[in-house]
Amino acid sequence: MGDDLAEVLYTEQQIQERLAELAGEIWRDYEGKDVLLVGVLKGAVMVMADLMRHLPGSVEMDWMAISSYGSGTKSSGVVRILKDLDTDITDRHVLIVEDIIDSGLTLSWTRSNLESRKPASLEIMTLLRKPDVVKVQIDVRYVGFDIPDEFVVGYGLDYDQQYRNLREIGLLAPHVYS
Ligand code: 5GP
Ligand code: MG
Ligand code: MG
Repeated sequence: MGDDLAEVLYTEQQIQERLAELAGEIWRDYEGKDVLLVGVLKGAVMVMADLMRHLPGSVEMDWMAISSYGSGTKSSGVVRILKDLDTDITDRHVLIVEDIIDSGLTLSWTRSNLESRKPASLEIMTLLRKPDVVKVQIDVRYVGFDIPDEFVVGYGLDYDQQYRNLREIGLLAPHVYS
């Protein structure tokens, strides 16, 4: 499976070190507040699990599953909820935990959907961010790594539902696509 990568962008250790740093920042910023981490399935599973374990105290998590209608590989921003949160987020401090932001359209929709439920605060953390997101007005508080506009897999991110279980993040070799 690792042989299918043309290049490793971030090793397991680099990912963990960055998540530990972000967890430190998050912990300081939310001092004295109960934070609810909200993950979007399925890509954010690994980020959620590891970020959460780098936080030194008590924290809750919940999940949403959404489907984004789009043509081909680009999302359209037209979104449907497949699984909603179990938690009432009214007056809660919510931090959305994302794997990657590309166009930002999906996240932009998710953000306004959650905003309408009147949380006490709403912020976004993403492990990876691509340059295209500048086209959408979206304020991302915590970013792991800014990456070039290339398709990456591993650490939760899939190609045709595969490669999510790679411990590193990388670029797929051309032979995989053919
Ligand atoms: P957006 O709405 O920001 O364009 O799309 C975000 C979603 O597209 C991500 O949650 C992810 O599922 C998928 N995506 C965007 N870029 C990549 C990528 O480089 N690799 C993989 N595996 N998925 C991506
Ligand atoms: Mg995602
Ligand atoms: Mg995917």
